[in-house]
Amino acid sequence: MGGKQNFFIAAFVIFLCVNKSSYSAEYLQIKPHKGDGIYSLLKKYELPNDSSYFNKFVELNKSRLSGKNEIFSHYEYKMPILIFEYNGINIRSSIGIDNYDIALEIQNWNNKLLKNKIKPQDYKISKEIWVPFHYIKSQSKSNEQVDENESSDKVPAEITTQKFSKKLNNERIFGKKYTQIQKIDNSLNGYVFYIDPGHGGPDPGAIGFKNGQEMHEDEYAYDVSLRLARNLMQHGAAVFLTIIDPNDGIRDDKYLRNSKDEMFGNRTIIIGNSRERLQSRIDYINEIYSTRKKSQHRLIIIHVDSRQFDQKIDIFFYNQPGDTASKKYANILLKTIENKYLVNQPQRGYRGTLADRNLFMLRHSPCSAVYIELGNIQNSTDQIRLIEPNNRQAIANWLTQGILKADTRTSTILKSKKKSHKK
Ligand SMILES: [Zn+2]
Repeated sequence: MGGKQNFFIAAFVIFLCVNKSSYSAEYLQIKPHKGDGIYSLLKKYELPNDSSYFNKFVELNKSRLSGKNEIFSHYEYKMPILIFEYNGINIRSSIGIDNYDIALEIQNWNNKLLKNKIKPQDYKISKEIWVPFHYIKSQSKSNEQVDENESSDKVPAEITTQKFSKKLNNERIFGKKYTQIQKIDNSLNGYVFYIDPGHGGPDPGAIGFKNGQEMHEDEYAYDVSLRLARNLMQHGAAVFLTIIDPNDGIRDDKYLRNSKDEMFGNRTIIIGNSRERLQSRIDYINEIYSTRKKSQHRLIIIHVDSRQFDQKIDIFFYNQPGDTASKKYANILLKTIENKYLVNQPQRGYRGTLADRNLFMLRHSPCSAVYIELGNIQNSTDQIRLIEPNNRQAIANWLTQGILKADTRTSTILKSKKKSHKK
């Protein structure tokens, strides 16, 4: 949509201004061959074969597509690829990003296109670096680290303002089958967990496809979040979800039905632009936080993203930049997962990582926080991690064990463990 595009451009311009240097980029124009379609072009350019790229292509070329989104071979088309001038130093400073891994991905992708003879010259010679649009989109977030998917014209006229209430013990939250929560022990008594399932409401997060099904990040992250919430409650923790879905409990389906009716944890409608939506989550957390000063508080943020094309990625973690407590905590979770893989599938290996990342939720959390990425929703192996309900439960269980290790004071599980990371 035009508004969306303008907003994207606006966000991009702001991003450029913030960086105080002059990056300019245009979309790559190409002339298709006979028989090319949008998907075949995306494939030719080694771009993700998903709805965000498809829609971007349509958005860029609206006037040149047939009613059925067919391509005409006599027109030129814009690809969802931005052309930047290469400054001869490095990709990061050429395009104004600071993430080395992403720069490396962009470099590899450029080299691949060169090898496939799609790109005519090495970027070091032509001084042209091509960048798939989502990197810039996600980088324009990186000052803010929010998605800019929504503009405020979606704000509904009426907002429910029911107050957030008690602990999470509502059967509607977990669903019929999982309503009963049997106490295992009290090892997490005195702990408050905020679980933030990345997206929800109008924002589905990343989207993947499998067997003709559209997989929305928010649904899978939510299901794992619920399972984790329930596990933690079994150990006596108080748990608050920043997002709830009034009718999706824990689901044992493989493919999770996509919905947009999620709400904030205080049962208000999810509105505002992406930054405001994240701020609302933080406000919600702060409100509870301030009434429970004597407790230990933890924020666990759960995502499933699609940052790296089709690449398989293991569960990985981000900690709060410069916060050793958060880093230690996340590292215990990582080690727990690593161990689980080692024991259950020794030949598999585990390559999850832990890194600082300046993300909005991490930055604004009033308490120790860990950000978890469960995989790449576009990768077929990772998709199995998400589609199998047992796998979603296993992830929740492993995270629970990690949390117990990181947190327990009185649990018999890890009496010997020092609890040096407590704030
Ligand atoms: Zn996400």
